Amino acid sequence: MIGKDSEHRIVFVDYHGVLTDLAAECVTNPPHVSHIRPDSLVALRLLSGYCLYVISNQAGVAFGDYTRSELDASISKLLADLRGLAIYINAFFYCPHHPLAKVSMYRTPCKCRKPSTFFIREALASHRSSTVKSVLLGDSVETDIECAEVAGINSILITDKKLNTAKFANLVSTSPSLLSAVPTIHRLLNGEGISRR
Ligand SMILES: [Mg+2]
Ligand SMILES: [Zn+2]
Repeated sequence: MIGKDSEHRIVFVDYHGVLTDLAAECVTNPPHVSHIRPDSLVALRLLSGYCLYVISNQAGVAFGDYTRSELDASISKLLADLRGLAIYINAFFYCPHHPLAKVSMYRTPCKCRKPSTFFIREALASHRSSTVKSVLLGDSVETDIECAEVAGINSILITDKKLNTAKFANLVSTSPSLLSAVPTIHRLLNGEGISRR
């Protein structure tokens, strides 16, 4: 989990659209190992030397697709199923809120919904190393890439489309999948002089 020379190397991954496809089944049901793309499973195994955190806006709770207790149980089961595949996730952070939530208790301008950096700061606070290198992977400019900009950490946008990465100071590249981004992640987390934090 901890790199040599007391360096901590962290990969933050979005859930919907990065670990999973954006199929309705994956979005309106709580997380399940069968929703994880096969190539994302391969990628997670290739990233097993790093601290892995999932950070997800789980608006399905806010819209009443599933309850928070169903979500918690599903995440526990997912992490156990992944451990069975030799994939170790440090934590699965999620925001259950949404400004337009149907379930009134989750209709709130919360502090944890991406692009808020709340969970990134929480994860980084648990790494008391002088040197932390990290990268965030997400498929949404508005939530994921913006979050990385505010947090001041490297990001990679998962998309098939072309995007002018120069608009974002911390956006390193785009990539069609998590798996295809693995070489760039290795370069960012192991390379010299290119880490932002
Ligand atoms: Mg997403
Ligand atoms: Zn929230």
